[in-house]
Amino acid sequence: MPDKFREECAVMGVYGHPEAANMVYLGLYALQHRGQESSGIVSSDGKGLTSHRQMGLVADVFKEDVIKRLEGSSAIGHNRYSTTGQSHLKNAQPFVVEYSQGPIAISHNGNLVNGTLLREELERAGSIFQSTSDTEVIIHLIATSKESSLMGRIIEALAKARGAYSLLFLTLDRMIAARDPMGFRPLVLGRFQSGPSAGAYVVASETCALDLIEAVYLRDVEPGEIVVFGPDGMESLKPFPPVPHAKCIFEYIYFARPDSNLFGHNVYQVRKALGRQLARENGVPADLVTPVPDSGVPAAIGYAEDSGIPLDFGLIRNHYVGRTFIEPSQSIRNFGVKIKLNAQRAVLEGKRVVVVDDSIVRGTTSRKIIRMLRDAGAKEVHMRISSPPTVGPCYYGIDTPNRTELIAANGSVEEIRRYIEADTLAYLSRDGMYTYFDGKSQGFCDACFTGNYPVHFDDEGHTKQLHLFEALQQR
Ligand code: AMP
Repeated sequence: MPDKFREECAVMGVYGHPEAANMVYLGLYALQHRGQESSGIVSSDGKGLTSHRQMGLVADVFKEDVIKRLEGSSAIGHNRYSTTGQSHLKNAQPFVVEYSQGPIAISHNGNLVNGTLLREELERAGSIFQSTSDTEVIIHLIATSKESSLMGRIIEALAKARGAYSLLFLTLDRMIAARDPMGFRPLVLGRFQSGPSAGAYVVASETCALDLIEAVYLRDVEPGEIVVFGPDGMESLKPFPPVPHAKCIFEYIYFARPDSNLFGHNVYQVRKALGRQLARENGVPADLVTPVPDSGVPAAIGYAEDSGIPLDFGLIRNHYVGRTFIEPSQSIRNFGVKIKLNAQRAVLEGKRVVVVDDSIVRGTTSRKIIRMLRDAGAKEVHMRISSPPTVGPCYYGIDTPNRTELIAANGSVEEIRRYIEADTLAYLSRDGMYTYFDGKSQGFCDACFTGNYPVHFDDEGHTKQLHLFEALQQR
């Protein structure tokens, strides 16, 4: 399966700052959770673009001498996270290409649903691709556009792209941010307010990156908006007709950092509210609520708050282990859970335990954890999940396995309960997931929980692409 379908990523850009690359480096550090496979920064000093991309974590990729080399007052960066398929440096971003008007770099978070179709068309017309990433498709669309201005080229290219993109472009004298009209993935705009860099702009996937570099959050880059930063300041364009929004609900459930403010709400507060609602919907007599750290912590706090059952840490996490999802094979993944988490007998012995996590994907983690809890003396184990069952893969930039590997796509809650060996298992309802948002699900994409993919099936190319996707997923 081509790994381009599996990209989770972070983007970060700074314009008009004497230490632009350094700021981007720090921002990428804060956004490490969105991608751990490769990292890269491209900077501009007005005369040329300098680039550094490498496989590995941000701290390993950028040493002092590398950052020093990335001169200039504007820079964009990228963290990439791909799990299955091959990992290649050639897929690491930002990509840099020369086109007729000079060099341009691009960082992309999201997946294009019609990437393969566009690639086929471009290849037929003579484009030569260097990566398997559909981000390169956008670059080729820009390079081959008949429009004369760069903005004209970018608008023409994005008008052809379907699916999810939060993008940053860098040229010699401009930085450009763009978010797809449905707004699947987040993208925020900030500014330095004081010091020698006052007035410099920042664009990042999440607000936690702004906090670290002490930039002030101004607003989200809006769905369908293109923001241009140039020598004359900032300009906002909205060249596309408005469409219903499809902000990713899974960013709230799992993916974003809890200290980020996302789509107008604080992630930590949302997760706690999901936990409270979970307790309201699925209470069970117990002595202890324990989170699966770190992903289940805020929801477990909420669950304990609402149920009145004390919260305690029955599972302790080793913080120096990467995500278990990074491991390529199932056998290593099984082992990985134990490397990451240990159960505490002193907390669990003889207790009826409610264990809270944000989601069950394959079921591997929950099964292992429940065994560990019982081995450490838990008398009963009640699994509570702060989202509905994950029934569909994501086509818009969250890494989910094939439908065949999604346990909830292939079995009932009772079957899952038996597989994970819990005494009881309950998920949050879809309606419950939206209580924090006054019950309003409009404006969100929850396809992973409902199978309702917000794509235009009247678009012939789109439909074909989706079928192609399904076929590839089954391989
Ligand atoms: P599994 O063992 O496949 O059921 O994985 C469930 C665990 O993976 C839960 O603890 C989730 O917090 C976590 N998880 C859910 N979605 C993702 C994702 N896209 N990437 C990495 N981890 C995830």
